[in-house]
Formats: sequence, C-alpha cells, structure tokens
Amino acid sequence: KLYNQVQDLKGSIRVYCRVRPFLSGQPNHFSTVDYIEDGNITISTPSKHGKGQRSFSFNKVFGPSATQAEVFSDMQPLIRSALDGFNVCIFAYGQTGSGKTYTMTGPRELAEKNQGNDPESLQRKTKGSHNGLSVPEANLVPVSSTSDVIDLMNLGQRNRAVGATALNDRSSRSHSCLTVHIQGRDLTSGTILRGCMHLVDLAGSERVNKSEVTGDRLKEAQHINRSLSALGDVISSLAQKNPHVPYRNSKLTQLLQDSLGGQAKTLMFVHISPEPDAVGETISTLKFAERVA
Ligand code: ADP
Ligand code: MG
Repeated sequence: KLYNQVQDLKGSIRVYCRVRPFLSGQPNHFSTVDYIEDGNITISTPSKHGKGQRSFSFNKVFGPSATQAEVFSDMQPLIRSALDGFNVCIFAYGQTGSGKTYTMTGPRELAEKNQGNDPESLQRKTKGSHNGLSVPEANLVPVSSTSDVIDLMNLGQRNRAVGATALNDRSSRSHSCLTVHIQGRDLTSGTILRGCMHLVDLAGSERVNKSEVTGDRLKEAQHINRSLSALGDVISSLAQKNPHVPYRNSKLTQLLQDSLGGQAKTLMFVHISPEPDAVGETISTLKFAERVA
C-alpha cells in the first residue's frame, strides 16, 4: 500500500514555495505577494510605469498563514517513502531570514520541548565519509527514537551557530545537512529495506554586493553562490532528464549524488520574504525554483 502511495507522487522532483509572514513587531508593509492560488504565485514588481507583476508555477505554494502542521502533513508521503527504501532529499532554499530553518525545524519552542537526552552524551560512532569524500566534521550516530533525532538536530544547530555575530552569521553562510539512515524490514516479505533522508538547510541565497565585501568574505560568498548554482544545475538536468548530470561541480552535489536522480526523490522547497525591499531576492529565488521545476 505504501509503495502505491509512493508511485502516486508525480515525478521524482517537486518544487514547493513558502511565503514567510510579516514578523510581529514589524511595521505594516504591503506584501510583494499579490496572490496565491494552487501552485501559482504572483509577485508585484517595481516598475517605472505603474505596477508590474510576475507569476510563477510550482507543485505547491504555501502562503504566509500556512501552519507547520499543514506543511509537515503534505510532506508525509515523501518522508514515508524513505521508510520504504527510497533516498529522499529535502532542500530549503532562500535568502537569509526567509524561513528556511523554521520550515526544517519548526518553531523553537517545539524543539526545546522535545529536549530529552544530553546530545553530547550520544556516542559518536563513525567519522563521516561518503561517496569517496571525507567529511571530517560529520558524525554518524545510532538513534532509536524521535527524541534522539531531535537532540542531534539541536546539537547541529548549536554547532552551526558557533561564532555567529550580527555581521558574520555563520549559520547563513553554511549549508547544514542532516542525514537519517533508515533500515526496516517488510513484515510480509521479510525483505530488508534501506532508505535515507537528507534534510538540507542551504546557505542564504542572497547575491553579494562585491563593493561591500572583500577578501575571505567575498571568496566565501562566491563559493556559496557557486555551490547553489551547481545544485540548481544538477536538479534542472535531472528534471529535464539530461543524460549528463554535473554532480562533480560541487562538494554538496557530490556528497548527495546517491540521493539525487535515479530512484531518489527530491523536494526543492524555496522560501521568500514578503517585504518590498526583498523583492529583488524574491524574484531571483523564484527564477531559481522555476529553472529546477
Ligand atoms: P532563515 O533560516 O531562512 O534565515 P528563519 O527560519 O531563521 O530564516 O526565519 C527568520 C525569522 O522568521 C525567524 O524569527 C522565524 O522564527 C520567523 N519565521 C520564519 N518563517 C515563519 C513562519 N512561517 N511563521 C512564523 N514565523 C516564521
Ligand atoms: Mg537559517
């Protein structure tokens, strides 16, 4: 039955979009989002001659009032397919502050409520190495419950926040990837199923203003932009069923190669901010999403 549900997912690459609500305490602005209907979203763009508009279509668009429960319940079949032995990648893409981490982890209170074990006490098993790439900072840790997983996610979030300052936010300048390896047994056939799920909270997609950053910061920003566009190239070649998929152009796509393409399922979840001063980044995010759809 589960297998049939998986087959029902149309195609192996899906693109979703989510619009962050205005944050409380923010002065009341006009939203750049004009309307949302099914998978369509229309954005007001600045124009010298009155108001301009641009529309984009995706598999699904969540408006600013969508709850985590709605978003999570929509993703359930995809996550269930990892239990059925498929490899699944969920990417959160968007400019810093657009709601990527919120979508991937839920409101902070939820994560805190679930804090059970001391994550540091979880034994670190294996140093990460995958697809011939070594990932010295990664650890593979056995888990046996949801709260073990949440503890690990919290530890990852804390490690990611180390060194963050207002001017140099490490968390927006790095990709974060949590991989859950799942092994199960089909109770009727006895077959062992192995699947995995990668939850990837990508670095902020904002373009850098070259006149404002120099040196290492500029290099880092260019590196992030290159790695995001390499990811876009891979997903769009998969979507177009190109025989050549340029996995080797970035470490991220090399690392996730087994879980991108083939039987694997990919969700590119792009996030946008509603504020008028973000409209340039919003359009560029939606163009990125349109290219991979
Ligand atoms: P990003 O990870 O893209 O930089 P965050 O997830 O940290 O952005 O979101 C920025 C701020 O907006 C946070 O304070 C977050 O709690 C809030 N936020 C983001 N998305 C939502 C949402 N859908 N509903 C309510 N608050 C949100
Ligand atoms: Mg974030």
